[in-house]
Amino acid sequence: MSQGEGGRSQEAFEYRDITINTVEKASDLYIQLEKLGAGKFGMVYKLQEKATGKIRAGKYFRTRTSKEREAACKEVELMNLLHHPRLVQSLAAFQSQTELVLVLEYIAGGELFERIVDDDFEHTEPTSIQYVRQILEGIQYVHRQSIVHLDLKPENLVCISKNSHWIKIIDFGLARKLDPDTPVKVIHGTPEFMAPEVIAFEPVGFTTDMWSIGVICYILLSGDSPFQGDSDMETLQNITAAQWEFEEETFSEVSQEAKDFISQLLQKDSRCRLPSDQALAHPWLQKTEQSGTKALSKERMRRFLACQKWQKTGNVLLALKRLSRLSCKLDDPVTAPSAPEKGGISQCSLQNQWQFQWALFFS
Ligand code: ATP
Ligand code: MG
Repeated sequence: MSQGEGGRSQEAFEYRDITINTVEKASDLYIQLEKLGAGKFGMVYKLQEKATGKIRAGKYFRTRTSKEREAACKEVELMNLLHHPRLVQSLAAFQSQTELVLVLEYIAGGELFERIVDDDFEHTEPTSIQYVRQILEGIQYVHRQSIVHLDLKPENLVCISKNSHWIKIIDFGLARKLDPDTPVKVIHGTPEFMAPEVIAFEPVGFTTDMWSIGVICYILLSGDSPFQGDSDMETLQNITAAQWEFEEETFSEVSQEAKDFISQLLQKDSRCRLPSDQALAHPWLQKTEQSGTKALSKERMRRFLACQKWQKTGNVLLALKRLSRLSCKLDDPVTAPSAPEKGGISQCSLQNQWQFQWALFFS
């Protein structure tokens, strides 16, 4: 099967099921170029294939421990189930003594939200509909494979080129395959985009991703983040309370259908959220180009992006502070978390948040 629709301005290649190459090294076949990103797993570098000169991305996982090796292999395994034009494709994998290199198609355009705020990029409700439709098409396919992404956020939505409106979903590092008989609970994610069930450490499902799409869509149309508090803890509390609204000022140019679409995703009860099939059939996504072509605010979106960058550096300090407080509390039997509290966030989920801060600290 080839990439088909949406891959036009991009190199077309055959979808591959990859097996991990333990004979050759990635450096035998690829030249490592500049760094593209970093994560808790390791680094992402631009690569050039020696035989063809083609540009790729290489996700370098540290695999010194068996846990690290398992996590990397799991991402390779999941990527083998995900062949769709709206999802980043894997092309090869190499395992050496201490690292696994996952070779991916290179997606050149950078983060969608960064493109949107460029002066020459049109940002209207119809263009937003195009993006949301593409996200949903990708996620509908992911869910049909019984996989949840669990880390949908603007950073993981990238444009295929600098001036393209075609996007792809990347980063299946937290994705999980769901089995109806085995509940899956997770303690990771990014506060602003986490669904209430993740914070409450309850089982996740396909509609956990739909909540995150609701948050992304809210920010896309208004430039405002619906649950953002002054600290991660406040953000998590706002999500738990499912406290959000359409601000008069920021949503004045946004249609009623768009608001209805968001409302049907930002439902605290995961069973009440639209699944991907129904979301794709929502009247807002059926709207044509003619309607609502007013430009949406890029200024607020710019502020949102600046705030995200600042938070990334701030998080480590915050995590350190919380960690020192946590270690005092856990040493003290009087203040150590025990039974759940009534109302607000339970002690149990507070404990999860601390664990979450641990995860952040090590990321
Ligand atoms: P994890 O959540 O698994 O710890 P992460 O968010 O750190 O991972 P990725 O999102 O997969 O990992 O990669 C980190 C960054 O590297 C991305 O935000 C993006 O900037 C860049 N990147 C990743 N894959 C590609 C790709 N295929 N093409 C271009 N850039 C990429
Ligand atoms: Mg990422």
